[in-house]
Amino acid sequence: MRTTADVALRVSEVFASIQGEGPSVGTPSVFVRVQGCAVGCGWCDTKYSWDPRRGRAVTLEALLAEVKAAGPQNVVVTGGEPLESPAFAPLIDGLKALGRRVEVETAGTEVPPAVEVDQWNVSLKLAHSGVAEPRRLRPEAIARFRDLGAWFKFVVGEEGDLDEVLALQARYALPSERIVLMPLGMRREEQVARMPAVVQWCRRHGFRFSPRLHVLIWGPRRGV
Ligand code: SF4
Repeated sequence: MRTTADVALRVSEVFASIQGEGPSVGTPSVFVRVQGCAVGCGWCDTKYSWDPRRGRAVTLEALLAEVKAAGPQNVVVTGGEPLESPAFAPLIDGLKALGRRVEVETAGTEVPPAVEVDQWNVSLKLAHSGVAEPRRLRPEAIARFRDLGAWFKFVVGEEGDLDEVLALQARYALPSERIVLMPLGMRREEQVARMPAVVQWCRRHGFRFSPRLHVLIWGPRRGV
């Protein structure tokens, strides 16, 4: 039988902060950024997490000890694209064995394995990501996340983005109360300028609004 000392993975960073966006925004959390992402969004703010050979190698046992020492009960597994990691399922099992509440941030491009995740945060990518549609929208994966009660988060900047969200909602039968809209912008001023319109769209369609707090507080900084 394999133990946590036998499982190795590569992580980009592990840090404690508050959840910056989505339904649990503001919750003190430990972030585990798993290395590796093959999606390739043009505006990605974590390009350092793309190459699966980079980051730091760590055993699952050592990683779980880091998470434990960091403190917060809520753990956000992010990336990169964490579902691309072969160690994803053992990582989730290990975190649950520690008694942590686990959220996973994903682009929704991989069918999720049968693991005990408390909250799936799925950021389906829109056309403005620059990623070809067959790469960013995988119907089988989206349907599975929907059936698991996932939250679907969208970064929107203009009315055309909203139209795209509405088309995706209709195509994949996503429940309105599970859709979260967040204003586009890697600078505080940009985000704030877009907030009133995004709030209006949320009110009109019964979606939830979320700021991207990390950008509002720290701007485009790493590890916060
Ligand atoms: S899926 Fe996430 S990590 Fe991967 S390129 Fe897109 S924004 Fe970056």
